[in-house]
Amino acid sequence: MIVVIGSINMDLVLRVPRMPLPGETLTGGAFQTIPGGKGANQAVACARLGRGAAGGQPVAMIGCLGDDAFGTTLRAALVADGIDVSHVASLPGVASGIASILVDANGQNSIVIAGGANDLLTPAHIDAALPLIARASIVVLQLETPPDTVRHAIGVAHGMGKTVVLNPAPAASLPTAVLAQIDYLVPNEIEAAMLLGEHAVAEDHAGSAAVLQAMGCRNVLVTLGAKGVHAALTDGSRDFPARAVTAVDTTAAGDTFIGGFVAALAAGVDAAAAVELGQRAAAIGVTRHGAQTSIPYLNELEPS
Ligand code: ADP
Repeated sequence: MIVVIGSINMDLVLRVPRMPLPGETLTGGAFQTIPGGKGANQAVACARLGRGAAGGQPVAMIGCLGDDAFGTTLRAALVADGIDVSHVASLPGVASGIASILVDANGQNSIVIAGGANDLLTPAHIDAALPLIARASIVVLQLETPPDTVRHAIGVAHGMGKTVVLNPAPAASLPTAVLAQIDYLVPNEIEAAMLLGEHAVAEDHAGSAAVLQAMGCRNVLVTLGAKGVHAALTDGSRDFPARAVTAVDTTAAGDTFIGGFVAALAAGVDAAAAVELGQRAAAIGVTRHGAQTSIPYLNELEPS
């Protein structure tokens, strides 16, 4: 089983001709609600990309929703992808997380996130899910839920001998004691630089990944957008080029990559082949709009 611990948001996407100025009212926008949140996106990607001939590993999510209409829709979206939501809490009197996203005619976006229920995921929720975590082979986390809870969950999963995958997004610094409990750290370039702090080596991804490995992470996968992935694995470093595609919307590109990577790893393939599958999935994802609307199914991937 794959357990994903993290955020669940409704993305409120408003396409506008241009960004409004402070105090200005613009008309002519088009509005859409799309299920998102890094945790939920990664859980959905694990579920869609693990469903091969072998059936794939079951996926469960640990997170918090509010008891509002978005919460009902977001829970149903996870269930529709076959995800176990028995440890997704509905918190009374709390709003579900939302991301308010403005996208202008050039594809430039500006985003405001209100964490809502995601900000109320506590170590007690993790402890209540110990039997679920015990059944997992891989536990996947990000940083859109409270840092104390993420640290606690990483400690619990590592202590149980699980493979721990951390996507350190949004960018933040992390104590070395936490990094030492990570089997696969998957930052993008900005997140890698933030983790490195004064050790940051601009444009030298191999150098950055090596320093992060020296800080204790067993394997480091730095995602480089259209340039692919630099992987520093326990058995050596490699660059994996991305597929050449025409991207229309890179929302959830990293989440799709991670879901594909984790689903493949859980199915028993080696890390290099799992990186390839993650990149094939993310390359399809960036040709489509939205977060969970863009995540492909395994049968859409061309054979390698
Ligand atoms: P994030 O979305 O977390 O910022 P990246 O932008 O690094 O992450 O993208 C994650 C992965 O998605 C990349 O490693 C690559 O495989 C794929 N990807 C992103 N942008 C493109 C693109 N323009 N063309 C092809 N693949 C892409």
